[in-house]
Amino acid sequence: MKKIRIVDLTAQYNRLKEEIDASIRGVLESGAFIHGPEVKAFEEELGNYLHTGHVIACANGTDALQVALMSLDLEPGDEVITTPFSFISTIEVIRLLKLTPILVDIRPDTFNMDEGLIEDVITERTKAIIPVHLYGQCCRMEAINDIAKRHQIFVIEDAAQAMGTEYIFSDGSRKKAGTMSHIGCTSFYPSKNLACYGDGGAIFTDDEKLASRIRSMVNHGQSKKYFYDHIGVNSRLDTVQAAILRVKLKYLDEFLESRIKAAAFYDRAFEPVPQILTPQRVDYSTHTFHQYTITLFGPCRNNLQNYLNDKGIPSMLYYPLPFHLQKAYQDLNYKKGDFPVSEEMADSVLSLPMHTELDEIQLEYITGHVIQFIAECNPK
Ligand SMILES: *Cc1c(COP(=O)(O)O)cnc(C)c1O
Repeated sequence: MKKIRIVDLTAQYNRLKEEIDASIRGVLESGAFIHGPEVKAFEEELGNYLHTGHVIACANGTDALQVALMSLDLEPGDEVITTPFSFISTIEVIRLLKLTPILVDIRPDTFNMDEGLIEDVITERTKAIIPVHLYGQCCRMEAINDIAKRHQIFVIEDAAQAMGTEYIFSDGSRKKAGTMSHIGCTSFYPSKNLACYGDGGAIFTDDEKLASRIRSMVNHGQSKKYFYDHIGVNSRLDTVQAAILRVKLKYLDEFLESRIKAAAFYDRAFEPVPQILTPQRVDYSTHTFHQYTITLFGPCRNNLQNYLNDKGIPSMLYYPLPFHLQKAYQDLNYKKGDFPVSEEMADSVLSLPMHTELDEIQLEYITGHVIQFIAECNPK
């Protein structure tokens, strides 16, 4: 059996090696390392894939979120609503910009923002909502956009984990994650659905004005060479990474299929085991399985992780501690118990190996060990 990795970047690279090497070599030979033609080509190709008006590449997903917020011209103390159960970037950039994060809990079925809690925390200072499409499944965007429209609030989607996921509206029409609201943000960090070999990110919008502000802001706020209209940042996607992403974008749907297939294998294997809650599917979103995350209530979760580790099966806790309990964010004056679903999930989730190169022998081995451990730890 091939060694099991939580994400297998080398196996995927070996499969695409010829094309990727050629694309990297092309950039090296051209010498255009910054703002090279590959960046623009990639932005266009990704825009076509997502059916969105403007794609602005940047250095990483965290910058994408920061620049998205910067483009909205908010005042210190303006409030931005998001969830405490995610990767730290959202709350981090809100705080860096001296805005006030207002947290709402997640839904227990999808781990995504509970849209039913948003209106309770809206005040006259609320300026934006950042829903995070966690693990590869969309938040209930129709409801969230509705609320935002009624209160004239911006919506910025964090689609870092949901590249290629589709939202299914009640009229049956579909849109890709990150393209349903004012601005969408994504990351091309090596483990993401569409990933480069280093850091990368992008911002999407259909709004021409926002697009030109964002494009200027990722480039020091420059309007024309050496003239600056805004305070911006230096956040660029390297040409080499853009060249890699152009190759990988062609295979994105194939990559997603492989993830969905692996998820289906996990589902089938765990079906007879009631203690393991497998990821729920919803009728308003596809699931592209950035993560395959099981929920295991009770003390078995931590022991399972250690057991799997001993068997050569890596697993991860995404995420072990919600934002409001993190040391850096204690001044927000939230306390334990404020977001019970997030807190319970942090103690109960476990993400299993998920990538495009998992084979049935590996999946058989992983699921076999999970099931064996659960039967012994929590007999039912
Ligand atoms: C990965 C990730 C980010 C940050 O992306 P980077 O490229 O690592 O800065 C932001 N939000 C979510 C939900 C992520 O998973």
